[in-house]
Amino acid sequence: MHERDDVVIVGGGIAGLAAAWRLQQLREEHGIDVRIRLFEASDRLGGKLQTEHTDGLVLEAGPDSFLSYKPAAIQLARELGIEDRVIGTRDTGHGTFILRDGRLEPLPEGITMMVPTKLGPLLRSRLLTTRGKLRMAAEYLVPPDEDDGDEPIGAFVRRRLGREAFEHMAQPLLSGIFAGDADQLSLNATFPRLRDIERQHGGLVRGMLAQRRESAANPPASQPKLTPFASFQDGMGSLPEAIAERLSGVDVHTGTSVRAIVPGPDRHVIHLCDGETVAASHVLLATPAYESADLLALADGELSALLRRIPYVSTATVSLAFRESDIPGDQVGRGFVIPHVENRELTAVTWSSNKFPGRAPQGVALLRAFVGRAGREAIVASPDDDLLQVVRTELREILGIEAAPEVHRVNRWWRAMPQYVVGHLERLSIIDQRIGRLPGVQLLGAAYRGVGIPDCIESGNLSAQTALDRILGT
Ligand SMILES: Cc1cc2nc3c(=O)[nH]c(=O)nc-3n(C[C@H](O)[C@H](O)[C@H](O)COP(=O)(O)OP(=O)(O)OC[C@H]3O[C@@H](n4cnc5c(N)ncnc54)[C@H](O)[C@@H]3O)c2cc1C
Repeated sequence: MHERDDVVIVGGGIAGLAAAWRLQQLREEHGIDVRIRLFEASDRLGGKLQTEHTDGLVLEAGPDSFLSYKPAAIQLARELGIEDRVIGTRDTGHGTFILRDGRLEPLPEGITMMVPTKLGPLLRSRLLTTRGKLRMAAEYLVPPDEDDGDEPIGAFVRRRLGREAFEHMAQPLLSGIFAGDADQLSLNATFPRLRDIERQHGGLVRGMLAQRRESAANPPASQPKLTPFASFQDGMGSLPEAIAERLSGVDVHTGTSVRAIVPGPDRHVIHLCDGETVAASHVLLATPAYESADLLALADGELSALLRRIPYVSTATVSLAFRESDIPGDQVGRGFVIPHVENRELTAVTWSSNKFPGRAPQGVALLRAFVGRAGREAIVASPDDDLLQVVRTELREILGIEAAPEVHRVNRWWRAMPQYVVGHLERLSIIDQRIGRLPGVQLLGAAYRGVGIPDCIESGNLSAQTALDRILGT
């Protein structure tokens, strides 16, 4: 008799939850008999998506937004019936600022993916010296690199746009996404489109101009309804909450850490923290790579070693709510990023109450500071009071805020940001080969092919589909 198929999902972050939701949908669609179980080590679902509501504030512990033009997150919100709670950014008339020699300078208008597409705003900007601007504009004349291999994104940006544009613009913008070292991060794994544009058009400025001409000739039928960054009215935590509420056909076990996976030819044995074991024909590991490495240590030592080699960086966020009257000067912009050359602990500050509507009551300004990055992680281990002090000192020096915050929250994120270092894609292809030898076992989540929320959701969708195809024998 054919044994019933069992799927076990390990990890209830957004990737694991998206996989559970998609499998539940597919099971219904195809009318198949599959048991779905999800084990989450902590006592709550959502992983890095965590929102706290206090004193009328919406405090994000982890991500505060997602890219709306990558469709997976919006599509998921639609399926869950919460699309009407998706919000775009506020139009403050100002975007991102960058600290230069202690002063906040706006990122010049027309910079797309670190590439200048408008000469006027770049020339008027005080972010770069005249020499730096001319070098950046001269990107037009820099021949493409014919080499096929990978390179650090830092080297690529310096080669194309010059050292100053790298240090004072590209590096802090990149660091804001990966908390990483641009001289280690792989161009091909983080921004493959930049490499493609260089190859196709001979350079970045040429490529961006060609794209502008193309969209002018073929304007989109309708304007996008949303701004590029989007969130939810009640914060990012609404997304895992909505999934959890609708997982009626999935056995969800929080507070249950998985210890090991022992593979078998048809069914794998999953060892749980309480000493129990469960068997499943499909195991979806939606855990950080170093956790998956531990779980698979008995199954394949070499695979486990490869997974362990994906580096991670720890960071911390400090949210601070001030009375608006305590903040001197104009309160403009959605936030600022801080280049390493400014030699500060702060890597970025989001002006949360300017970025999205409804984040703070009238008269209150909500800011969120980021500390900790590749090569400078020790600060994350500082006691809360010390962290707060460092953040307050730097905010005083940069924004002139003397007052103490009315409310503050410190959130530490240990080994939270996977680093796609040079060679990441080659490592992934060996990982794929080895995981292929463990039938029904899959790896998903931020460690592999995109750290953003839509990427993680997409990885959940794909693994659910792959599991279904295997169940149906297609
Ligand atoms: C401070 C911060 C800000 C960010 N900002 C943004 C942003 O604005 N926009 C954006 O798109 N992305 C952002 N990111 C990145 C994004 O949040 C993450 O890449 C994404 O949420 C990761 O989802 P995941 O499901 O892969 O992993 P996780 O959220 O890490 O989930 C993994 C889950 O597995 C569980 N687990 C681990 N081990 C076990 C085990 N042995 N047994 C059972 N369960 C286990 C964990 O408890 C956790 O719940 C940010 C990240 C951080 C840290």
